Amino acid sequence: MNLLRIPLLRRLLSLSGESNPSDELSRCQFEAFARQLPLLHVILIINTVAVAITHIGTAPAWLARDVPISLCAVCLMRLATWLRRQKRRHTLTDAQIAARMRTTLVLIGVLGVLFTTWGLALYPYGDAYARVHVAFYMSITVIGCVFCLMHTRAAALLLTAIVVVPFSLFFALTHNVVLMAIAANMLLVAVAMVLILLSYYRDFARLVESRRSLRARQAELLRLSEENSSLANLDSLTGLPNRRRFFGELNALVPRDNPGALRYAVGVIDLDGFKQINDLYGHAAGDRVLEEAGCRLLALSGPHITLARLGGDEFGLLIRDLTDVQELVLLGTAICEALRRPYVWLGATLSLSGSIGLAIFPEGGETPDQLFEHADYALYFAKTHRRGGITIFSHEHESQIRKFGEIEQALRHADLELEMSLHFQPIVDVMTARIISFEALARWHSPILGAVPPSLFIKVAERSHLIHTLTEVLLGKALRIMKAGAVEARVSFNLSALDLASPDALERLISMIRKSGVAPDRLTFEVTETAVINDFEQAQQALKALKTLGAHISLDDFGTGFSSLNCIHRLPLDKIKVDRSFIADIETNVGARDIVRSIVDLCRSLSLACVIEGVETPAQVEVLRQLGCEVMQGFHFGRPSAADGKDGLDPLTRFDISVYCGVGSTEKNS
Ligand code: C2E
Ligand code: CA
Ligand code: CA
Repeated sequence: MNLLRIPLLRRLLSLSGESNPSDELSRCQFEAFARQLPLLHVILIINTVAVAITHIGTAPAWLARDVPISLCAVCLMRLATWLRRQKRRHTLTDAQIAARMRTTLVLIGVLGVLFTTWGLALYPYGDAYARVHVAFYMSITVIGCVFCLMHTRAAALLLTAIVVVPFSLFFALTHNVVLMAIAANMLLVAVAMVLILLSYYRDFARLVESRRSLRARQAELLRLSEENSSLANLDSLTGLPNRRRFFGELNALVPRDNPGALRYAVGVIDLDGFKQINDLYGHAAGDRVLEEAGCRLLALSGPHITLARLGGDEFGLLIRDLTDVQELVLLGTAICEALRRPYVWLGATLSLSGSIGLAIFPEGGETPDQLFEHADYALYFAKTHRRGGITIFSHEHESQIRKFGEIEQALRHADLELEMSLHFQPIVDVMTARIISFEALARWHSPILGAVPPSLFIKVAERSHLIHTLTEVLLGKALRIMKAGAVEARVSFNLSALDLASPDALERLISMIRKSGVAPDRLTFEVTETAVINDFEQAQQALKALKTLGAHISLDDFGTGFSSLNCIHRLPLDKIKVDRSFIADIETNVGARDIVRSIVDLCRSLSLACVIEGVETPAQVEVLRQLGCEVMQGFHFGRPSAADGKDGLDPLTRFDISVYCGVGSTEKNS
């Protein structure tokens, strides 16, 4: 039978506010009660034994001996069971605790009734002392027990009611003045005890509640601070870890005891063609592409693989516990393939690729900084030699870095005016057998390193921000040569991507041209596709400014980059220069011939001049003629040669192209 169904008990519980105490409060009450329960039993047993002893001989044996022994045995058993269960008390659920507290309440009620009945039953036996002893036993024991039940208000009130009410009534009715006084005292003390108990219990409940709310506030604070730190470590656009978290994890990857077995790799990923998408379709499209790329990269992350967004279209990669390089290559390939899948934006299909540079610990660097720097270098290499693929930093790269370092040092200390010079190579119209212009090509003779090819020093100048000064020195030389020349030859001058990217640098070049006295329309500026793609909007502005000045614009190395028709169409171009890689095997390679033919057609329909670079043999000239090419440049017509030789400043006097074109012509310039 569920004792809580008894209305009195239920009312008592609800009166005491414990029909539904909070779980936290129940647990605290349980803990406090658990500590005091043994004391309660000890008081009860010792006091009972004392009373039993004083009544042995006067009261019947069953009452003075058997009943107290049975009651004390029940108490001892209860105590033993409780103590045994105590060990598991921390594993109890809230429901189990509530159930145990209910059982305890019922037991206290039952034992209270039994002990009170026993005490009152003993009263008629013995002398006056023995009777007073019974009264004393009952009152002092109930006070002791109620104190032990201080934290369990319901049990304390229940026990007070069960003992004090019958006790007071019983002794009030004895008509013995002493006992009546004891009853009255007991009642008073009980009332005072209940009042103190209620106020103490309220404070206890409040304390528990404030501790609970403090803990809840602390938990909330912890949650907020965790949320904060995860926000501070996540990239909001892609949901990937951000730069801060990436470098945090990278720095934590210090080699442990057996560095040979624990290898890790650092990677830098860059999207090829992302800027173009941003420029052509707008930033919303760019964001969408980044989001999608982030999603694809997140899908490839794992317990040993961290992929993070470092900023812009650059992502970082960390691979822990790497076992072999093949694993890295497979992962890199999977990333490249994932990034290469088409992206859809408002019905348009956008395509781009991702290049990855990787460095493996310890071969590729021994500190986190070194590894990242080398991965970045490998990326630079991937972007220039293996776009859309992976490059792992190697010894070869290391020696290249060293070489670049030497070149940079020499370049920084070079007297550019003195050490730099220009060579000129003719550009020829094979139909008329005329030189139509010259390409100016930079030459550097360093007193430390000797002759350094432009393919190297231009790159180094770009990386070390010396390019603007270098371009200015070279343009100055070109303009002086053009001004001093006997004939008004046209000159093609190469510009770096960085020259286009800096409005200030460009402004200085324009002002040099204006001041030089050379007609701007004698100048053609050659820019590569990659220079334009890196920052399309800015490059477009720069080229427009040069065009407005009156100069011509030529797109260099065409076919090696990523130019789309859309891109070409939006630039103020005059010429396209077909990269020499298509010409080397033009006689035998049908594919190369098809490409050149279609570029020639494209130029014709866009009304652009088409220049073929790298023509080395008469046979190549012949094939190219048949494909409709008219303007060519290459060793076959003339190697680049110095303009400032002892025989004067006019480079044109050196070339007699009639020999090469097979067309009689005495005119050597346009
Ligand atoms: P580029 O603009 O494509 O220049 C043409 C390169 O092809 C030159 O190499 C030239 O010597 C070479 N060349 C010409 N005809 C032939 C041929 O028939 N066969 C072969 N195999 N090569 C031929 P160079 O002078 O070593 O210049 C290399 C690159 O350095 C240039 O490529 C250009 O990108 C850069 N560069 C040169 N001078 C300057 C400069 O003043 N400023 C800037 N920014 N870049 C320059
Ligand atoms: Ca060029
Ligand atoms: Ca070229």
